[in-house]
Amino acid sequence: RAKADLTRTVCYYEPQMDEKSRERRGLAMDLRSAIEHKELELKYQVQKSVESGEVRGYEVLLRWKHPERGYIPPSEFIPIAEESGSILAIGEWVMREAAREALAWPLPHKIAVNVSPVQLMHVDLARSIHEILLETGLPPRRLEIEITESTIIADKVRSLDALRRIRALGVTVAIDDFGTGYSSLDTLRSFPFDKIKLDSSFMKEIETSQQARAIIRAVLALGKSLDIKVLAEGVETGMQLEILRSEGCHEVQGFLLGAPETFVADVVAVEERRIA
Ligand code: C2E
Ligand code: MG
Ligand code: MG
Ligand code: MG
Repeated sequence: RAKADLTRTVCYYEPQMDEKSRERRGLAMDLRSAIEHKELELKYQVQKSVESGEVRGYEVLLRWKHPERGYIPPSEFIPIAEESGSILAIGEWVMREAAREALAWPLPHKIAVNVSPVQLMHVDLARSIHEILLETGLPPRRLEIEITESTIIADKVRSLDALRRIRALGVTVAIDDFGTGYSSLDTLRSFPFDKIKLDSSFMKEIETSQQARAIIRAVLALGKSLDIKVLAEGVETGMQLEILRSEGCHEVQGFLLGAPETFVADVVAVEERRIA
């Protein structure tokens, strides 16, 4: 099967191979069995409405607990998984597992799943999502996918077609890390996104830089006129939240609102609140 071939890693000996690439190769090998060995875990980070404080959804964040090296951050292993092809099986696992877990929650919150450009390029993502929705019974409106601009730039025709078909299922689409790519405006013109996720780098400067604040204001105005919700990522302080509120930002996500966690703690909290 084509899918199996894509996840197969070629391993060969190269005497001059440096430490770094040897390590990457080792991790690529280990990743192939990470699902089977139950080393992958999902964390969920809350997304809240600025106005009401209500939960709007949870972003699904993948964690890899390596048997010898402990937790390896996604910034390190996702690129390796993309390069080796493992991301196809991993991406499917994340979506199916998150759908299953979300269905067990006491409240029907939405889940936002990150999708790799490699998934969009190498599998029929719309079909794969459709199958997972049918198989798990997750209502399409409870699923959002997050994609970065680089995803679209790689092959505009193919990715826009895939995104249209995904949206036609009733699944929403968010553009992630907005403001860090090359052609943000062009991307927005080409596709009806449901949400803009303003990159966390803007939060670092929002308290001190007028420029950062002016850009945020412009993105919010853009969102308003295109009828796209704007979520600010990486909100860590009360002051950042107050500025975002005064500028009219719709949703927020970040350590101030809640760190990524296994949902169990939140479920317990929800149950306790219900009882109280
Ligand atoms: P992202 O999608 O932009 O996710 C947000 C990242 O910001 C997460 O890092 C999150 O833990 C972190 N974060 C949350 N709140 C704060 C805050 O207040 N301050 C700061 N400085 N950071 C905050 P994480 O979990 O390490 O993930 C990094 C990236 O890895 C993600 O960026 C996403 O691009 C990728 N990723 C994670 N899970 C998956 C997955 O299942 N599939 C794919 N393809 N990529 C994933
Ligand atoms: Mg994301
Ligand atoms: Mg992001
Ligand atoms: Mg990111």
